[in-house]
Amino acid sequence: MAESLALCPRCGAEKDLPLGRCGACGVVPVDAEREIALLCSTRILDVPALRAAQERIRRGEPLRPTEALRARARALLLGEEVASVTFTRGQIAGLALANLLLTPLLGYAVWFRYRTRPGPAARQALFATVPVSLFLLVALVAWRVALLTGNA
Ligand SMILES: [Zn+2]
Repeated sequence: MAESLALCPRCGAEKDLPLGRCGACGVVPVDAEREIALLCSTRILDVPALRAAQERIRRGEPLRPTEALRARARALLLGEEVASVTFTRGQIAGLALANLLLTPLLGYAVWFRYRTRPGPAARQALFATVPVSLFLLVALVAWRVALLTGNA
């Protein structure tokens, strides 16, 4: 998975989500700032370009994105260019295995992450998670019942 990174256009601090609140200065991008905030993230720029933007922000220099970049940010904001996500069979199998061996919360976390993205990813995550969590629930209940009835 590509490194995902976003910068606060006000102070240059790194944050998780381009449109989220900055942990350093507390600013939430609104209106026209949302376009710049999206620009200052790996949704649009690569990491070296982001590092350069971070330097500019910290030096107090204005960012001068090209019109093409601004247009891409606008398109993303309008949801015209949100990439569809599909997991491979290997990824689904890996997720199911991780759900079984670790915790099905993993699968629900993946579902939560992709639930608003177009494409089947969120449904695939549930497909790999719900049966495993039902199985674990039944196994847990059976084990408890066995303990209570003294058969374990
Ligand atoms: Zn900030």
